[in-house]
Amino acid sequence: MSAMYKAIQVTKPGEFATVMKPLVEPGPGQVRIRVEACGVCHSDAGTVEGSFPISWPRVPGHEVVGRIDALGSGVQGWAVGQRVGVGFLGGSCGYCELCRDGDLVNCRNQEFTGIHSDGGYAEVIIAKATGLVRVPDDLSSADAAPLLCAGLTTFNALRNAPAKAGDLVAVLGIGGLGHLGVKYARNMGFEVAAIARGSNTAELAKKLGAHHYIDSAATDPAAALQALGGAKVILITASGGNTVAATFKGLRPGGVSINVGAGPEPIEITSPDLIFGERKLAGSLTGNPAAGDATLRFSALSGVSAMIETVPLEEAPAAYAKMMAGKARFRMVLVTKNGSTYPEQPK
Ligand SMILES: [Zn+2]
Ligand SMILES: [Zn+2]
Repeated sequence: MSAMYKAIQVTKPGEFATVMKPLVEPGPGQVRIRVEACGVCHSDAGTVEGSFPISWPRVPGHEVVGRIDALGSGVQGWAVGQRVGVGFLGGSCGYCELCRDGDLVNCRNQEFTGIHSDGGYAEVIIAKATGLVRVPDDLSSADAAPLLCAGLTTFNALRNAPAKAGDLVAVLGIGGLGHLGVKYARNMGFEVAAIARGSNTAELAKKLGAHHYIDSAATDPAAALQALGGAKVILITASGGNTVAATFKGLRPGGVSINVGAGPEPIEITSPDLIFGERKLAGSLTGNPAAGDATLRFSALSGVSAMIETVPLEEAPAAYAKMMAGKARFRMVLVTKNGSTYPEQPK
């Protein structure tokens, strides 16, 4: 086993460099993983553009799948050779008051993968055992990778939502997150309305499993949802504040609009819109590791996967640029020579 491994790191905002790093032993509570695949997520911009406080250089990537090749001291329940996933939340501490109350997502000492520690744009990653997710044998590493952030985010938000089978659930935005949201919603047994701008997404939305397609450029999406009886849940995967506000009145009484698409724009909703009908506006942050396990297991059982384009690790900067330009259909996944899908001759 080589004593060095390849990583694509960000040296300063907007600048990638390919480097060889020395292999290090995992510390207490950590594991070392031979990365097979890593998804490229819009939140990687937090690292690449430096919008999070980053100490440079930093390796981005938080949709990581690989095999454990070394265990640090004190790690229990995981084995060398086991295939595991690492998502955005790097692992809970186990001792803060939120952890002790069972809220692992909001752990006060949670580190973000690829932001506080090096991520998965590399052949090797060191990860905290408390953040690991189990990968079912019947999911390929490339298919599993985007499910660790985009999948977990949409699956967990819908899974914890108040909708029951048969209820109308709307998914706003049909992109990297939204296309998975529609597939999960359909497979969870909801009546699904997909909302996006323009008529050219209609066919895709139906193919993904939507029963209804609402073109928000041509029609008032809130009125269209009310014409269907009103949505119990609107899963917001788009980031514009105005877009969120425009759909809010499409909720039926007691309905909730759950935001998972982050953006700086404020969401302007009047208090009567909240009060009359007792509607709620909420946010959801990925999920805990057990929810990660459930996401991957449900995906394998129901045949849900992201539409992906795989490229060799070496092409990470181009894959990132394509994703940021909105040209990925829908998730870019980096693959390394540790996995089985790495091409013989990378460009
Ligand atoms: Zn904690
Ligand atoms: Zn992500």
